[in-house]
Amino acid sequence: MPALRHDPISNRWIIVARERAARPQPRIISAADTSALDCPFCGGHESRTPPESFSLRSSETSANENGWRVRVMGNKYPALGPMATTAPRFVDGRPAMGAHEVVVESPHHVASAGALGVAQWHDIVLAYRQRLEYWSRQQGMRYALLFKNVGAAAGASQQHIHSQLAVLPVVPPAVEAELDGAHTYYKEHARCVFCDLVKREMEEEVRLVAQTERFVAFCPYAGRFPFETWLMPRHHAPYFERLPNSDTEQLATILREVLCRVEACIQPVAYNCVFHTSPFDTHDLSHYHWHIEITPRMTTVAGFELGSGLFINPLPPEDAAAILRASSIPPQIT
Ligand SMILES: [Zn+2]
Ligand SMILES: [Zn+2]
Ligand SMILES: [Zn+2]
Repeated sequence: MPALRHDPISNRWIIVARERAARPQPRIISAADTSALDCPFCGGHESRTPPESFSLRSSETSANENGWRVRVMGNKYPALGPMATTAPRFVDGRPAMGAHEVVVESPHHVASAGALGVAQWHDIVLAYRQRLEYWSRQQGMRYALLFKNVGAAAGASQQHIHSQLAVLPVVPPAVEAELDGAHTYYKEHARCVFCDLVKREMEEEVRLVAQTERFVAFCPYAGRFPFETWLMPRHHAPYFERLPNSDTEQLATILREVLCRVEACIQPVAYNCVFHTSPFDTHDLSHYHWHIEITPRMTTVAGFELGSGLFINPLPPEDAAAILRASSIPPQIT
């Protein structure tokens, strides 16, 4: 069973999961990859995956058969175990109670964001929201980290377009650090730092990548990686799972656009995309604002970065934003 271990010096939590060693090894994404026959995520291969926990599918079809548009199931190689109500506690470790789900984002064997149209991205956004909303109601779970690994260099072990959801009994340190920073800023300025960031980026324009009436995407001023891009609501919104119905289509449109622009600028395509939202056990936070961080993996995290926690970004975010804005995005598919 996977276990959480705490390092009291750095205050980091580590997940030890022997189960993960058996998973398929990452492969480089290429157009010539013809592994659809072997792919467990393709429509028609439902029996090769754990049973689904959620799907958007045509009403004539039943769970765990073909006919779905987006399908969510437990990860076959989980980093987190099933939930238990009586978890033995240790001083520095505890079983990794939680859940690890996979969101398969198309029944077709495609790898790139642009291969899917806005209508499909809309279903994907609805599935994301449904899963977070579901897990926010489960006892003992404090956080759900939604993330996407694309390309072997970013840790993807399946080429077929998908995301993952790690449901955790702890708040991840990266989010805890953001919450602390945002809280400190709020105490000083009585404003949400993300709301201020949106305002500044909209005014300065140089780092903007895309925008809609409700959302904006930009290369952050202090981005760690070339082409790093953040996407967030333009108005204060602490919880992704409370995304209003009126905003889902705009989010689908801009998320697709931003991922397409990023994919057009990096070769081979390799990036991670993480959703940061407020912990489930908080209430109407005034200082934290959900957002998506897209981090291309063109540079290697080496000794300096690991040892210092500092990142060297060779591409100024202003230049990255200009290149991203100029990149072409695949036409809409209906
Ligand atoms: Zn497939
Ligand atoms: Zn805000
Ligand atoms: Zn963040």
